[in-house]
Amino acid sequence: MNAPLPVTPVASPGPPLWLLAEVTYRCPLHCAFCYNPVDFARHDSELATEDWLRVLREARAAGSVQCGFSGGEPLMRDDLEILVAEAHRLGFYTNLLTSGVGLDARRAQALREAGLDHIQLSFQDSTRELNDFLSHTRTFDLKQRVAGLIKHNGWPMVMNCVIHRLNIDYVENIIDMAVELGAEYLELANSQYYSWALLNRDQLMPSRAQLERAERIVNECRQRLGDRIRIFFVVPDYYETRPKKCMNGWGEVFLTVTPDGTALPCHTARMLPGLDFPNVRDMDVKSIWYGSEGFSRYRGDAWMKDPCRSCPDKEKDRGGCRCQAWMLAGDPAAADPVCDKSPHHSKVVQVVERASDPGWKGGAKPLIFRDPRRSRELGALEKSAADG
Ligand code: SF4
Ligand code: SF4
Repeated sequence: MNAPLPVTPVASPGPPLWLLAEVTYRCPLHCAFCYNPVDFARHDSELATEDWLRVLREARAAGSVQCGFSGGEPLMRDDLEILVAEAHRLGFYTNLLTSGVGLDARRAQALREAGLDHIQLSFQDSTRELNDFLSHTRTFDLKQRVAGLIKHNGWPMVMNCVIHRLNIDYVENIIDMAVELGAEYLELANSQYYSWALLNRDQLMPSRAQLERAERIVNECRQRLGDRIRIFFVVPDYYETRPKKCMNGWGEVFLTVTPDGTALPCHTARMLPGLDFPNVRDMDVKSIWYGSEGFSRYRGDAWMKDPCRSCPDKEKDRGGCRCQAWMLAGDPAAADPVCDKSPHHSKVVQVVERASDPGWKGGAKPLIFRDPRRSRELGALEKSAADG
Protein backbone atom coordinates (compact mmCIF):
# COMPACT_ATOMS: atom_id res chain seq x y z
CA MET A 1 0.00 0.00 0.00
CA ASN A 2 1.23 3.54 -0.78
CA ALA A 3 2.20 5.81 2.10
CA PRO A 4 -0.44 8.56 2.65
CA LEU A 5 0.35 11.76 0.76
CA PRO A 6 0.95 14.84 2.88
CA VAL A 7 -2.23 16.80 3.61
CA THR A 8 -2.28 20.43 2.62
CA PRO A 9 -5.03 22.47 4.26
CA VAL A 10 -5.79 25.74 2.48
CA ALA A 11 -4.18 28.01 5.06
CA SER A 12 -5.18 31.25 3.39
CA PRO A 13 -7.90 30.73 0.81
CA GLY A 14 -8.32 33.23 -1.99
CA PRO A 15 -11.30 35.59 -2.04
CA PRO A 16 -14.92 34.54 -2.73
CA LEU A 17 -14.68 35.53 -6.41
CA TRP A 18 -18.21 34.40 -7.29
CA LEU A 19 -21.17 35.59 -5.25
CA LEU A 20 -24.47 33.83 -5.92
CA ALA A 21 -27.31 35.93 -4.50
CA GLU A 22 -30.34 33.66 -4.23
CA VAL A 23 -32.65 36.56 -3.55
CA THR A 24 -35.87 34.54 -3.19
CA TYR A 25 -37.17 30.98 -3.22
CA ARG A 26 -40.49 32.21 -4.63
CA CYS A 27 -41.07 31.02 -8.18
CA PRO A 28 -44.17 30.82 -10.35
CA LEU A 29 -42.85 27.67 -12.03
CA HIS A 30 -42.95 24.15 -10.62
CA CYS A 31 -40.02 22.39 -12.30
CA ALA A 32 -39.72 18.73 -11.45
CA PHE A 33 -35.90 19.07 -11.41
CA CYS A 34 -35.78 22.28 -9.34
CA TYR A 35 -32.43 22.75 -7.61
CA ASN A 36 -33.91 24.64 -4.63
CA PRO A 37 -33.96 22.62 -1.41
CA VAL A 38 -36.97 20.33 -1.06
CA ASP A 39 -37.88 22.14 2.19
CA PHE A 40 -37.48 25.64 0.68
CA ALA A 41 -40.87 26.71 2.06
CA ARG A 42 -39.49 26.46 5.62
CA HIS A 43 -36.97 29.22 4.81
CA ASP A 44 -39.37 31.98 3.83
CA SER A 45 -37.97 34.92 5.79
CA GLU A 46 -36.26 36.89 3.02
CA LEU A 47 -33.48 39.40 3.54
CA ALA A 48 -34.60 43.01 3.21
CA THR A 49 -33.23 45.31 0.50
CA GLU A 50 -30.85 46.99 3.00
CA ASP A 51 -29.43 43.59 4.02
CA TRP A 52 -28.73 42.65 0.40
CA LEU A 53 -27.10 46.02 -0.29
CA ARG A 54 -24.81 45.47 2.70
CA VAL A 55 -24.02 41.90 1.55
CA LEU A 56 -23.06 43.22 -1.89
CA ARG A 57 -20.76 45.85 -0.39
CA GLU A 58 -19.16 43.37 2.01
CA ALA A 59 -18.67 40.74 -0.68
CA ARG A 60 -17.08 43.25 -3.04
CA ALA A 61 -14.78 44.45 -0.26
CA ALA A 62 -13.85 40.78 0.34
CA GLY A 63 -12.82 40.46 -3.33
CA SER A 64 -15.94 39.17 -5.15
CA VAL A 65 -16.02 40.14 -8.81
CA GLN A 66 -19.03 38.30 -10.29
CA CYS A 67 -22.52 38.46 -8.90
CA GLY A 68 -25.27 36.13 -10.07
CA PHE A 69 -28.84 37.02 -9.11
CA SER A 70 -30.78 33.81 -8.86
CA GLY A 71 -33.66 32.20 -6.99
CA GLY A 72 -36.39 30.89 -7.23
CA GLU A 73 -37.28 33.53 -9.72
CA PRO A 74 -35.28 36.66 -8.88
CA LEU A 75 -37.76 38.86 -10.79
CA MET A 76 -40.29 38.09 -8.05
CA ARG A 77 -38.43 40.74 -6.02
CA ASP A 78 -39.51 44.31 -6.80
CA ASP A 79 -36.14 45.62 -5.63
CA LEU A 80 -34.08 43.58 -8.12
CA GLU A 81 -33.21 46.70 -10.14
CA ILE A 82 -31.94 48.43 -6.97
CA LEU A 83 -29.71 45.46 -6.15
CA VAL A 84 -28.38 45.19 -9.70
CA ALA A 85 -27.65 48.93 -9.79
CA GLU A 86 -25.67 48.72 -6.55
CA ALA A 87 -23.77 45.65 -7.73
CA HIS A 88 -22.93 47.46 -10.97
CA ARG A 89 -21.86 50.60 -9.11
CA LEU A 90 -19.56 48.49 -6.93
CA GLY A 91 -17.89 47.06 -10.05
CA PHE A 92 -19.36 43.55 -10.14
CA TYR A 93 -19.97 41.75 -13.43
CA THR A 94 -23.68 41.04 -13.01
CA ASN A 95 -25.70 38.10 -14.25
CA LEU A 96 -29.43 37.36 -13.95
CA LEU A 97 -30.55 33.71 -14.00
CA THR A 98 -34.23 33.71 -14.86
CA SER A 99 -37.16 31.70 -16.15
CA GLY A 100 -38.25 34.93 -17.85
CA VAL A 101 -41.45 35.24 -15.85
CA GLY A 102 -41.77 38.86 -14.77
CA LEU A 103 -39.47 40.30 -17.43
CA ASP A 104 -41.51 42.78 -19.47
CA ALA A 105 -40.29 45.71 -21.56
CA ARG A 106 -40.39 48.12 -18.62
CA ARG A 107 -38.33 45.92 -16.31
CA ALA A 108 -35.91 44.99 -19.07
CA GLN A 109 -35.22 48.68 -19.68
CA ALA A 110 -34.85 49.33 -15.94
CA LEU A 111 -32.38 46.46 -15.63
CA ARG A 112 -30.47 47.73 -18.64
CA GLU A 113 -30.23 51.16 -17.02
CA ALA A 114 -29.18 49.55 -13.75
CA GLY A 115 -26.19 48.11 -15.63
CA LEU A 116 -27.10 44.42 -15.81
CA ASP A 117 -24.40 42.73 -17.93
CA HIS A 118 -25.86 39.36 -18.76
CA ILE A 119 -29.09 37.33 -18.65
CA GLN A 120 -29.39 33.56 -18.73
CA LEU A 121 -32.86 32.48 -19.82
CA SER A 122 -34.03 28.97 -19.03
CA PHE A 123 -36.27 26.81 -21.23
CA GLN A 124 -37.57 23.36 -20.42
CA ASP A 125 -37.91 22.14 -24.01
CA SER A 126 -38.37 23.29 -27.61
CA THR A 127 -42.07 22.41 -27.67
CA ARG A 128 -44.86 24.22 -25.88
CA GLU A 129 -46.31 20.88 -24.69
CA LEU A 130 -43.18 19.61 -22.96
CA ASN A 131 -41.96 23.01 -21.75
CA ASP A 132 -45.31 23.67 -20.10
CA PHE A 133 -45.64 20.13 -18.76
CA LEU A 134 -42.18 20.12 -17.14
CA SER A 135 -42.64 23.52 -15.51
CA HIS A 136 -46.32 22.85 -14.79
CA THR A 137 -47.13 26.32 -16.14
CA ARG A 138 -48.03 27.90 -19.47
CA THR A 139 -44.77 29.77 -19.99
CA PHE A 140 -43.48 28.69 -23.40
CA ASP A 141 -44.85 31.66 -25.36
CA LEU A 142 -43.76 34.09 -22.67
CA LYS A 143 -40.20 32.74 -22.83
CA GLN A 144 -40.13 33.31 -26.59
CA ARG A 145 -41.16 36.94 -26.02
CA VAL A 146 -38.52 37.35 -23.30
CA ALA A 147 -35.87 36.02 -25.69
CA GLY A 148 -36.90 38.85 -28.05
CA LEU A 149 -36.58 41.42 -25.25
CA ILE A 150 -33.09 40.18 -24.39
CA LYS A 151 -32.00 40.64 -28.02
CA HIS A 152 -33.76 43.99 -28.28
CA ASN A 153 -31.86 45.30 -25.27
CA GLY A 154 -28.52 44.19 -26.66
CA TRP A 155 -27.63 41.60 -24.02
CA PRO A 156 -25.74 38.51 -25.14
CA MET A 157 -28.31 35.74 -25.58
CA VAL A 158 -27.53 32.87 -23.23
CA MET A 159 -30.00 30.03 -23.00
CA ASN A 160 -30.11 27.14 -20.61
CA CYS A 161 -32.12 23.96 -20.82
CA VAL A 162 -31.99 21.23 -18.18
CA ILE A 163 -31.73 17.88 -19.97
CA HIS A 164 -33.10 14.57 -18.71
CA ARG A 165 -34.83 11.38 -19.81
CA LEU A 166 -37.98 13.19 -20.95
CA ASN A 167 -36.37 15.74 -23.30
CA ILE A 168 -32.92 14.34 -24.12
CA ASP A 169 -34.18 12.79 -27.35
CA TYR A 170 -35.03 16.29 -28.63
CA VAL A 171 -31.66 18.03 -28.17
CA GLU A 172 -31.44 18.81 -31.86
CA ASN A 173 -34.81 20.61 -31.78
CA ILE A 174 -33.71 22.52 -28.67
CA ILE A 175 -30.49 23.58 -30.43
CA ASP A 176 -32.42 24.67 -33.53
CA MET A 177 -34.82 26.70 -31.39
CA ALA A 178 -31.89 28.39 -29.65
CA VAL A 179 -30.38 29.31 -33.03
CA GLU A 180 -33.72 30.67 -34.27
CA LEU A 181 -34.03 32.84 -31.18
CA GLY A 182 -30.55 34.21 -31.82
CA ALA A 183 -28.78 32.58 -28.87
CA GLU A 184 -25.02 32.98 -28.81
CA TYR A 185 -24.59 30.40 -26.05
CA LEU A 186 -26.64 27.36 -25.14
CA GLU A 187 -26.07 25.32 -22.04
CA LEU A 188 -27.58 21.83 -22.25
CA ALA A 189 -27.13 20.92 -18.63
CA ASN A 190 -28.05 17.36 -17.84
CA SER A 191 -29.93 17.31 -14.57
CA GLN A 192 -27.80 16.52 -11.54
CA TYR A 193 -29.59 14.53 -8.86
CA TYR A 194 -30.11 16.77 -5.86
CA SER A 195 -33.23 18.23 -4.26
CA TRP A 196 -36.35 17.87 -6.44
CA ALA A 197 -34.43 16.07 -9.19
CA LEU A 198 -33.37 13.43 -6.64
CA LEU A 199 -37.04 12.87 -5.72
CA ASN A 200 -37.72 12.35 -9.43
CA ARG A 201 -34.52 10.49 -10.28
CA ASP A 202 -36.29 7.35 -11.49
CA GLN A 203 -38.27 9.37 -14.01
CA LEU A 204 -35.49 11.78 -15.06
CA MET A 205 -32.33 9.68 -15.35
CA PRO A 206 -31.58 9.08 -19.05
CA SER A 207 -30.41 5.72 -20.33
CA ARG A 208 -26.85 5.28 -21.55
CA ALA A 209 -28.13 4.90 -25.11
CA GLN A 210 -30.04 8.19 -24.85
CA LEU A 211 -27.01 9.99 -23.47
CA GLU A 212 -24.62 8.66 -26.12
CA ARG A 213 -27.05 9.56 -28.91
CA ALA A 214 -27.49 13.07 -27.51
CA GLU A 215 -23.73 13.61 -27.25
CA ARG A 216 -23.32 12.50 -30.86
CA ILE A 217 -26.08 14.84 -32.05
CA VAL A 218 -24.64 17.77 -30.11
CA ASN A 219 -21.25 17.17 -31.76
CA GLU A 220 -22.87 17.02 -35.21
CA CYS A 221 -24.73 20.27 -34.50
CA ARG A 222 -21.49 21.94 -33.40
CA GLN A 223 -19.99 20.98 -36.76
CA ARG A 224 -23.08 22.07 -38.72
CA LEU A 225 -23.49 25.40 -36.92
CA GLY A 226 -19.85 26.41 -36.53
CA ASP A 227 -19.48 29.84 -34.88
CA ARG A 228 -23.20 30.66 -34.91
CA ILE A 229 -23.66 29.29 -31.40
CA ARG A 230 -21.50 27.83 -28.64
CA ILE A 231 -23.07 24.73 -27.15
CA PHE A 232 -22.12 23.36 -23.75
CA PHE A 233 -23.24 19.84 -22.93
CA VAL A 234 -22.87 18.86 -19.30
CA VAL A 235 -23.06 15.10 -18.67
CA PRO A 236 -24.85 13.81 -15.52
CA ASP A 237 -22.33 13.02 -12.79
CA TYR A 238 -23.72 9.50 -12.49
CA TYR A 239 -22.27 8.65 -15.92
CA GLU A 240 -18.75 9.65 -14.90
CA THR A 241 -16.12 7.57 -13.13
CA ARG A 242 -14.34 10.55 -11.57
CA PRO A 243 -16.16 13.35 -9.76
CA LYS A 244 -15.98 17.03 -10.60
CA LYS A 245 -14.09 19.44 -8.38
CA CYS A 246 -17.34 20.53 -6.81
CA MET A 247 -17.78 24.34 -6.78
CA ASN A 248 -14.13 24.50 -7.79
CA GLY A 249 -13.24 23.50 -4.25
CA TRP A 250 -15.24 23.97 -1.04
CA GLY A 251 -14.95 27.56 0.16
CA GLU A 252 -12.35 28.39 -2.49
CA VAL A 253 -14.29 30.44 -5.08
CA PHE A 254 -18.08 30.37 -4.54
CA LEU A 255 -20.18 32.02 -1.90
CA THR A 256 -23.93 31.47 -1.99
CA VAL A 257 -26.25 33.60 0.09
CA THR A 258 -29.73 32.09 0.35
CA PRO A 259 -32.95 34.11 0.58
CA ASP A 260 -32.96 34.00 4.39
CA GLY A 261 -29.30 35.08 4.60
CA THR A 262 -27.67 31.70 5.23
CA ALA A 263 -24.20 31.70 3.68
CA LEU A 264 -23.20 28.44 1.98
CA PRO A 265 -20.18 27.15 0.03
CA CYS A 266 -22.68 25.73 -2.49
CA HIS A 267 -26.41 26.10 -2.86
CA THR A 268 -27.22 22.58 -1.61
CA ALA A 269 -24.78 22.44 1.33
CA ARG A 270 -27.51 23.19 3.88
CA MET A 271 -28.46 19.50 3.74
CA LEU A 272 -25.17 18.42 5.35
CA PRO A 273 -25.42 17.22 8.95
CA GLY A 274 -23.32 18.55 11.81
CA LEU A 275 -22.58 21.91 10.20
CA ASP A 276 -23.93 25.21 11.39
CA PHE A 277 -23.76 27.65 8.50
CA PRO A 278 -23.44 31.33 9.36
CA ASN A 279 -26.02 33.97 8.45
CA VAL A 280 -25.20 37.35 6.93
CA ARG A 281 -27.59 38.91 9.45
CA ASP A 282 -25.14 37.93 12.23
CA MET A 283 -21.69 37.97 10.61
CA ASP A 284 -19.97 40.00 7.91
CA VAL A 285 -18.92 38.32 4.67
CA LYS A 286 -15.16 38.37 5.40
CA SER A 287 -15.62 36.68 8.78
CA ILE A 288 -17.95 34.13 7.18
CA TRP A 289 -15.48 33.35 4.42
CA TYR A 290 -12.28 33.21 6.44
CA GLY A 291 -13.45 32.48 9.97
CA SER A 292 -16.54 30.26 10.01
CA GLU A 293 -16.57 26.52 10.64
CA GLY A 294 -19.13 26.07 7.83
CA PHE A 295 -16.68 27.38 5.21
CA SER A 296 -13.52 25.76 6.57
CA ARG A 297 -14.74 22.22 7.37
CA TYR A 298 -14.09 20.77 3.88
CA ARG A 299 -11.51 23.22 2.57
CA GLY A 300 -8.26 21.78 1.30
CA ASP A 301 -7.76 18.07 1.99
CA ALA A 302 -7.00 17.74 5.70
CA TRP A 303 -10.53 16.40 6.33
CA MET A 304 -10.24 13.56 3.81
CA LYS A 305 -10.42 9.86 4.52
CA ASP A 306 -9.19 7.08 2.30
CA PRO A 307 -9.45 6.44 -0.61
CA CYS A 308 -9.19 10.22 -1.22
CA ARG A 309 -6.54 10.87 1.42
CA SER A 310 -3.93 8.74 -0.30
CA CYS A 311 -5.15 9.41 -3.85
CA PRO A 312 -2.87 11.16 -6.40
CA ASP A 313 -5.94 12.91 -7.87
CA LYS A 314 -7.08 14.64 -4.70
CA GLU A 315 -5.80 18.03 -5.83
CA LYS A 316 -7.69 17.68 -9.10
CA ASP A 317 -11.17 16.99 -7.72
CA ARG A 318 -10.93 17.52 -3.95
CA GLY A 319 -12.89 14.28 -3.46
CA GLY A 320 -15.92 15.53 -5.42
CA CYS A 321 -19.20 16.70 -3.98
CA ARG A 322 -19.84 16.61 -0.23
CA CYS A 323 -23.61 16.59 -0.71
CA GLN A 324 -23.45 13.61 -3.07
CA ALA A 325 -21.22 11.80 -0.55
CA TRP A 326 -23.83 12.45 2.16
CA MET A 327 -26.81 11.49 -0.01
CA LEU A 328 -25.31 8.30 -1.46
CA ALA A 329 -22.72 7.14 1.09
CA GLY A 330 -24.28 8.60 4.25
CA ASP A 331 -20.99 10.31 5.14
CA PRO A 332 -20.18 13.88 4.03
CA ALA A 333 -16.44 13.20 4.43
CA ALA A 334 -16.49 10.13 2.16
CA ALA A 335 -15.29 10.07 -1.45
CA ASP A 336 -18.04 11.15 -3.85
CA PRO A 337 -19.61 7.80 -4.90
CA VAL A 338 -19.38 8.92 -8.53
CA CYS A 339 -15.69 7.97 -8.22
CA ASP A 340 -15.04 4.35 -9.14
CA LYS A 341 -12.55 4.13 -6.26
CA SER A 342 -15.36 4.80 -3.77
CA PRO A 343 -16.66 1.71 -1.94
CA HIS A 344 -20.15 3.11 -2.66
CA HIS A 345 -19.70 3.48 -6.42
CA SER A 346 -22.00 0.50 -7.03
CA LYS A 347 -24.96 2.68 -5.90
CA VAL A 348 -24.32 5.01 -8.83
CA VAL A 349 -23.79 2.12 -11.24
CA GLN A 350 -27.07 0.52 -10.15
CA VAL A 351 -29.04 3.69 -10.92
CA VAL A 352 -27.46 3.98 -14.36
CA GLU A 353 -27.99 0.30 -15.16
CA ARG A 354 -31.61 0.44 -14.06
CA ALA A 355 -32.28 3.52 -16.19
CA SER A 356 -30.59 1.82 -19.15
CA ASP A 357 -32.60 -1.39 -18.89
CA PRO A 358 -35.16 -1.42 -21.75
CA GLY A 359 -37.68 -3.00 -19.34
CA TRP A 360 -37.28 -0.18 -16.74
CA LYS A 361 -40.74 0.86 -15.49
CA GLY A 362 -39.68 3.48 -12.90
CA GLY A 363 -39.58 6.15 -15.60
CA ALA A 364 -43.35 5.95 -15.93
CA LYS A 365 -44.08 7.02 -12.32
CA PRO A 366 -45.80 10.42 -11.94
CA LEU A 367 -43.40 13.32 -11.43
CA ILE A 368 -43.36 15.27 -8.17
CA PHE A 369 -43.56 18.93 -9.13
CA ARG A 370 -42.07 21.58 -6.89
CA ASP A 371 -44.58 23.66 -5.00
CA PRO A 372 -44.71 25.28 -1.54
CA ARG A 373 -47.36 22.92 -0.13
CA ARG A 374 -45.38 19.84 -1.18
CA SER A 375 -42.25 21.49 0.16
CA ARG A 376 -43.82 21.96 3.60
CA GLU A 377 -45.03 18.34 3.68
CA LEU A 378 -41.71 16.92 2.52
CA GLY A 379 -39.77 19.27 4.82
CA ALA A 380 -41.80 18.04 7.82
CA LEU A 381 -41.09 14.42 6.84
CA GLU A 382 -37.35 15.12 6.45
CA LYS A 383 -37.27 16.86 9.81
CA SER A 384 -39.02 14.09 11.68
CA ALA A 385 -36.67 11.53 10.06
CA ALA A 386 -33.65 13.61 11.14
CA ASP A 387 -35.03 13.97 14.70
CA GLY A 388 -35.37 10.19 14.85
S1 SF4 B 1 -35.82 25.32 -11.51
FE1 SF4 B 1 -37.89 25.95 -12.15
S2 SF4 B 1 -39.10 25.96 -10.26
FE2 SF4 B 1 -36.92 25.91 -9.66
S3 SF4 B 1 -36.38 28.04 -9.35
FE3 SF4 B 1 -35.86 27.54 -11.48
S4 SF4 B 1 -37.65 28.09 -12.69
FE4 SF4 B 1 -38.30 28.02 -10.55
S1 SF4 C 1 -10.50 8.66 -4.58
FE1 SF4 C 1 -11.20 10.70 -3.98
S2 SF4 C 1 -9.58 12.11 -4.66
FE2 SF4 C 1 -9.25 10.13 -5.71
S3 SF4 C 1 -10.29 10.35 -7.71
FE3 SF4 C 1 -11.76 9.43 -6.26
S4 SF4 C 1 -12.89 11.14 -5.36
FE4 SF4 C 1 -11.06 11.99 -6.34
